[in-house]
Amino acid sequence: MTADEAKALRLRLTTTQEQRLRELGADPLVLGGDFAGAAARDAAFKRLEDGLVRRSRRQLQELRTSSRAPQLVELETRLRAALAGAGFVQVVTPLIITTEALTRMGMEQGHPLREQVFWLDDGRCLRPMLAPNLYTVLRRLGRIWSRPFGIFEIGPCFRRDSKGARHLNEFTMLNLVELGRPAEECRARLEELAALVMEAAGVGEYDLVPTESAVYGEMVDIEVNGIEVCSAFGGRNPLDGDWGIVEPWVGLGFGLERLVMAREGYSGIERAGRSLSYVDGVRLNI
Ligand code: ATP
Ligand code: MG
Repeated sequence: MTADEAKALRLRLTTTQEQRLRELGADPLVLGGDFAGAAARDAAFKRLEDGLVRRSRRQLQELRTSSRAPQLVELETRLRAALAGAGFVQVVTPLIITTEALTRMGMEQGHPLREQVFWLDDGRCLRPMLAPNLYTVLRRLGRIWSRPFGIFEIGPCFRRDSKGARHLNEFTMLNLVELGRPAEECRARLEELAALVMEAAGVGEYDLVPTESAVYGEMVDIEVNGIEVCSAFGGRNPLDGDWGIVEPWVGLGFGLERLVMAREGYSGIERAGRSLSYVDGVRLNI
């Protein structure tokens, strides 16, 4: 047998085995290995599974005795503290919004994002983003407060995004907006606020990538290893007039589950989200 023939006979993990190990949090490198035959492969799988199950049980035991909040809640607490420390004011707005609010966000009938909306019976919907509510609160506070001032919200958003490793139907968005800085300062401020949030989230390495958004036009995405964790905007926007905003603003919208994924090195977002299968990122069928 030639070396190539011997190599061709080597086996990889089965799809089921691979999925099981991934759910248990196996290192992606481990999943790529190959084996000299079915018996060797199955034995290796069993060994890996046993090790990961033991680790999961230890993690759940730690959670039980630590009195610590789940990852997502802890992250929210840290982000809240960092933003409040920088003078941002937290707001809490409705999860149910009107069709009219979506239309005013440029999401007319036939707009791709509109297909992702969870509609309620009476034409209202579950918010797919925080921006329409924050536009409204920003305008109303803008009549009362001096410049510059900033607000933020952290809360659930809902989208019929095709299920995959990076999308959830319900996820948690952090949206911060600051009104009333000169237009020429907006880009630098955007970078400063990005750094503030990424540091609070415990994610050291990230890239700012120019991009086009269906809603805002020219934007900046924050990516970690090529995965978008935030879309941000700074300046004046064609939508502003419809919301009664006449000054430049800076806004950043982060997905908290994506931030947890990035920080923990998870390969799938499900581990980081609201779940019946995971507690604090640990698989429960162990
Ligand atoms: P993507 O292109 O990755 O689908 P998006 O550009 O449609 O994201 P935005 O509208 O920019 O998303 O929302 C801001 C942030 O919210 C995103 O950067 C991402 O972190 C998060 N996010 C958006 N959709 C989802 C989703 N379905 N599940 C989890 N997080 C999401
Ligand atoms: Mg985006």
